[in-house]
Amino acid sequence: MKPDTQKIEVLVRQLLLELGEDPNREGLVKTPLRVAQALTFLTNGYRADVKQVINNALFTQDTGGMVIVKDIEMYSMCEHHMLPFFGRCHIGYIPNGKVFGVSKLARLVDMFARRLQLQERLTEQISRAVMDSIDASGVGVMIEARHLCMMMRGVEKQNSTMVTSAVLGVMRENLATREEFMSLVCRKSA
Ligand SMILES: [Zn+2]
Repeated sequence: MKPDTQKIEVLVRQLLLELGEDPNREGLVKTPLRVAQALTFLTNGYRADVKQVINNALFTQDTGGMVIVKDIEMYSMCEHHMLPFFGRCHIGYIPNGKVFGVSKLARLVDMFARRLQLQERLTEQISRAVMDSIDASGVGVMIEARHLCMMMRGVEKQNSTMVTSAVLGVMRENLATREEFMSLVCRKSA
């Protein structure tokens, strides 16, 4: 169900007042509407599902080699502060008869990122969705991200990056396969 934009506008107006602002001044008059629209977009992952995102863009391929898609841009919001965290997501999988259309992994990342998230859970959800969609032999997902709630407030660490990873199937069971994934992902781009 789509959020009620008008309700959010009322709430944002109240928030502005409570923060000591004047919601009637020129620059802020349309802010509640803009915030409502932005938040609706940034949470549209709640209103999407994996099947619809992939939309049958799976192709038969009889190769057992690892497929890696690196540096997928990722923008999400932390559920503790509703502030952005952003960075790059790397996905690797070992097909078991089926591969993804190229853009679909990026779409999957967006779908899970456009929710209130924890980086750990986001990583886990992406890996699970990749695994289940194509019944892969193994999946590895790594996310490197910077959190504005850490950079702008709290400990105010400007340069720290949080790295999370999730591995499933043979990536979890087989050390050599996991190491192959890690080394391909960590290798500097050409
Ligand atoms: Zn946070």
